[in-house]
Amino acid sequence: AKKLGRNQYHFFTEELNETVQKVITLDKQMRQALIDNEYILYYQPKIDLSSGKILGVEALIRWINKTNKFVPPSDFIPLAEENGFIKELGIWIVDEALNQYVKWRDMGIDISIAINISAKQFLEKDFEIKFIEKLEEKKINPAKINLEITEYILMDKSDYVQDILNILHDYGVRISLDDFGTGYSSLSYLKKFPIDYLKIDKAFLDDYESSSGKIFLETIVKMGQMLKMKVVAEGIEEQEQIDYLKTISCDEYQGYYFSKPLNNEDFEKLYFNNLKD
Ligand code: C2E
Ligand code: CA
Ligand code: CA
Ligand code: CA
Repeated sequence: AKKLGRNQYHFFTEELNETVQKVITLDKQMRQALIDNEYILYYQPKIDLSSGKILGVEALIRWINKTNKFVPPSDFIPLAEENGFIKELGIWIVDEALNQYVKWRDMGIDISIAINISAKQFLEKDFEIKFIEKLEEKKINPAKINLEITEYILMDKSDYVQDILNILHDYGVRISLDDFGTGYSSLSYLKKFPIDYLKIDKAFLDDYESSSGKIFLETIVKMGQMLKMKVVAEGIEEQEQIDYLKTISCDEYQGYYFSKPLNNEDFEKLYFNNLKD
């Protein structure tokens, strides 16, 4: 390779420094934000395709910092996963989601709640024991709690992961395989692990009009259902997608078409309106 000139080299390290500095700053801010209560959970409804009723919600984290700037999860969750902060943040997410579930249950809002669990968080020692302890302590019906994991978890330390998933599943907690069809898909996962819900990634739904897109969707739905799973379509933005999903008997959907993720109060309004429909 050609040697870089002196100035170019200098320029390169400056750029690199800047990136490193940004990451260090974000790292600090992310941790401080937990102390300063800047995180909040939003909730996106999961809808029953045949009845149009709200069955549950998925909790999705939001970071609204002091200057009221909204930081999307895609900007900080990957870094939190890399530097381990997700373990701390994950505890907050689980506690917050379970507390909200209890509040809603006690208000007569009968829904399930899905919590995204990242690999590092899941692989923490005694994750399943601590999680089950929380359900016991709050007297929560485990069948109302859904853990969303990705294929990424399943490929890593898969025998250990299988044991932990079995413990949670035997206790009654529901398991969703998130972002199905992206990345590391292997059909053997579907046989090996106790999965209750298959969430088809938005990318497949975006392609619902093409003939190959239809083949994939129909096949995934059939396969999931034959394996006794419920199949959930993600990222639904149009009525036409819903019409199509009904023709292939998909079970549930989520997407902006029905609702964006909402804060707890806005979700409550939507929930009570949906009951009346
Ligand atoms: P995900 O778990 O696959 O969540 C679905 C994402 O799609 C959410 O983005 C949601 O707001 C978005 N979405 C839902 N419906 C539509 C739609 O109709 N159109 C479009 N364009 N997007 C839609 P969000 O909230 O920005 O989260 C992005 C990712 O960040 C999540 O993907 C998940 O991987 C991660 N994440 C979010 N909250 C948490 C959390 O509490 N814990 C962990 N570990 N990860 C989280
Ligand atoms: Ca998810
Ligand atoms: Ca997803
Ligand atoms: Ca995703």
